[in-house]
Amino acid sequence: MSSDDRILVAGAGPVGLVAAAALARQGIPVTVLEAGAGLSDESRASTFHPPTLDMLDALGAARPLIAEGLAAPRLQYRTRAGRIAEFDFSGIADVTRHPFRLQAEQFKLTRILYALYRDHADFAVEFDSAVETVRQDEEGVVVGLRRGGGMAERRGRFLIGADGARSAVRRALGIEFEGFTWPERFLVVSTPFDFHRAIPDLAPVSYVADPGQWHFLLQIPGLWRVMFPVPAAVADEHALEADYIAAQMATIVAGRGDYPVAHCTLYRVHQRVAGRWRQGRAFLAGDAAHINNPLGGMGMNGGIHDAVDLAARLARAWRGEGEPGDLDRYERQRRGVTVEYVQTQTIQNKRNLEASDPSEQAEFRRRMRETAGDPALAYDYLLKLSMIASLRRAAALG
Ligand SMILES: Cc1cc2nc3c(=O)[nH]c(=O)nc-3n(C[C@H](O)[C@H](O)[C@H](O)COP(=O)(O)OP(=O)(O)OC[C@H]3O[C@@H](n4cnc5c(N)ncnc54)[C@H](O)[C@@H]3O)c2cc1C
Repeated sequence: MSSDDRILVAGAGPVGLVAAAALARQGIPVTVLEAGAGLSDESRASTFHPPTLDMLDALGAARPLIAEGLAAPRLQYRTRAGRIAEFDFSGIADVTRHPFRLQAEQFKLTRILYALYRDHADFAVEFDSAVETVRQDEEGVVVGLRRGGGMAERRGRFLIGADGARSAVRRALGIEFEGFTWPERFLVVSTPFDFHRAIPDLAPVSYVADPGQWHFLLQIPGLWRVMFPVPAAVADEHALEADYIAAQMATIVAGRGDYPVAHCTLYRVHQRVAGRWRQGRAFLAGDAAHINNPLGGMGMNGGIHDAVDLAARLARAWRGEGEPGDLDRYERQRRGVTVEYVQTQTIQNKRNLEASDPSEQAEFRRRMRETAGDPALAYDYLLKLSMIASLRRAAALG
């Protein structure tokens, strides 16, 4: 085997590193090409769903991640007046070894994976290596890289483009990123204030419906993250001013406004899915293939599900064991379920929280109370929340 006979991965985010770890673990040589000088330390995603933890366990990464995170078995829907409904993931302990959401920042996962695999003989990460071009022939893929001010090339049998929402791989392949951008932006404020002091029955994952100012509250180790929508008319600079942030935070609990702010981020939110996820020997996964609003925590989780599925198929192809059509099924199943399930569900989650029509609000609250109160409905709903239903649906897409 020549040193070029390997699988290339663009991007050392959670999706690229999961794909690379899953391949190396099966003895398939993989090189990750990362544009940055090191791993990103952005916090961004902070929720790992039960089946994602089951997958990470197979890579040896679940246990160290759980040790650095906060296990959240309960999730609530609320209004400012109080609780609408609560769901407990221990209800699906028959189908997952991790019946809880794990609240941990995504940079913890990438650091853990890198530490676990960096000395593995089949695993390599090359930093300061931004993929710019992709060309293919019968035997493989050649990527052109910008590195240290110059250009270089790397060759591999297959390429996984896991280089994020602005994917250079997707652009080099000429694939459209179809969808739309929401007019409002999302403001994420992190505070060391413990919201249990102000709202004693609050679950670590709580979505608060409100036609004027919906928000969600997520607990991570040492902090709570609060997310609000920011109307299109409010300028970015204004939304990041201390007064604006304090005014939003003051809407959470009547009579309270004295929250210390650890950090805050404002970001644009999109619903987009790449038109194709495979072109010859090149594949897209994670944010390079799909992005959605964060209500439900499905972006990174769905990306990790892509990475695990694709790595298994590429491993079979590498060993010459895949059935005809095995690689094409990646796009059919993972793109199919992303369009049908993840995009639809995250858009619906947003509509439920922001509904201004009183009958729509009443219907959402009635549905949630009925679902939480009926064990069979609650079980099915937990399968949806945890993304187990999306994995089953993907497998059924054939
Ligand atoms: C505020 C916020 C909150 C979120 N919360 C959640 C949540 O709770 N749950 C959830 O599931 N998702 C959440 N998400 C989404 C989640 O962060 C992304 O889905 C996730 O980061 C996708 O991982 P990725 O590896 O595909 O891409 P990225 O994390 O973007 O990683 C891509 C990597 O590729 C590198 N790269 C870029 N261009 C190139 C190039 N040309 N060549 C080589 N390398 C390149 C980048 O440097 C980066 O390291 C959230 C996002 C935001 C912004």
